[in-house]
Amino acid sequence: MVKNLCILGSTGSIGTQTLDIVRAYPDRYSVYAICAHRSIDKLIAQAREFHPEVVCIADESLYEPLKAALADMPVKVWGGADAIAEVVTMPSIDIVVAAMVGYAGLRPTIEAIKAGKTIALANKETLVVAGEIICDLAVKHHTPILPVDSEHSAIFQSLVGEDRSEIEKILLTASGGPFRTFSLEQMRTVTAADALKHPNWDMGAKITIDSASMMNKGFEVIEAKWLFGVPVEKIQVLVHPQSIVHSAVQFTDGAIKAQLGAPDMRLPIQYALSFPERLKSDFPRADLFALKDLTFEEPDLHRFPNLGLAYEAMRKGGNIPCTLNAANEVVNEAFRQGRCGFLQMSDIIAYTMEQVHTHHFIQTPSYENYVETDQLARTIAQTQLQ
Ligand code: MG
Repeated sequence: MVKNLCILGSTGSIGTQTLDIVRAYPDRYSVYAICAHRSIDKLIAQAREFHPEVVCIADESLYEPLKAALADMPVKVWGGADAIAEVVTMPSIDIVVAAMVGYAGLRPTIEAIKAGKTIALANKETLVVAGEIICDLAVKHHTPILPVDSEHSAIFQSLVGEDRSEIEKILLTASGGPFRTFSLEQMRTVTAADALKHPNWDMGAKITIDSASMMNKGFEVIEAKWLFGVPVEKIQVLVHPQSIVHSAVQFTDGAIKAQLGAPDMRLPIQYALSFPERLKSDFPRADLFALKDLTFEEPDLHRFPNLGLAYEAMRKGGNIPCTLNAANEVVNEAFRQGRCGFLQMSDIIAYTMEQVHTHHFIQTPSYENYVETDQLARTIAQTQLQ
């Protein structure tokens, strides 16, 4: 049985690696729809190679050029956020790979869950912003959410055959990023170019900055809470610079199960697509003899306050994790454009969370409340950049 894929964010890092797997297994996976934000040239090349039924571009100003470029092909060309929220519900689609960046992934993921599509989830911001709504909808519509994030895939793999009530602790590993050993003084002057030199993983620009500031790990704590139903107090972050142990689960009898491997995103992507099967691959193998040692350190919340802010956002709950994400999207972009210092990012996020918590807190937000909070938090964070 060939599975039809809809890939949201097909031109990004996860999207292109998903297409590598389709290339390797054309008898198992077919590309039904591809969607990109604004990388039109890559999107056109993908359409010509994979012959999808639908090609979608989020940035509506690129709709006409895209349509013109694909005029000779029998393909539907759609544009805009509404189109992306609609394409995921098409009856022929089996799996939606949610690999858009940031808050923009929320709405199409909700629509895909409502339509009962299997979700291969790479867009962790969706769970950070609205984890409760997403999980309730997934239960209601019997929609499996399979993690693509390497750590969560490792936890998921460690939990196969286990009872989730027997989890004592989740051990979430972090590489520590390029500034793991930097002093606060050094971190004050680092630039986006410094942060983009990630030691182990090759990722998109936004997540690479989140990784350097450890906001990515904070998001992953929240993501793990929602995916596995474990309170954040039972999720321990371990800095593991070699990125070989991709994460682990400690059970109530003291046993620890982990998943190890070379750092290569194609493995967790492929597992999300093939679960419960494993497919052969030629991805690089981790050579355990070549590894001198595997080390684990406690994270330093003083130098990396974002991790603490993520735990705080979850303790406060309601619309505060949504605020955390919105403020982070603003400062992450500003840092990449040289308009915000590295340490200043955390200060602005903390300030925004405090403002929303004091004046605009909502304990049980609806989807519309999340949309409002996202806008409000962005506005507050923007005022701090001037
Ligand atoms: Mg990860």
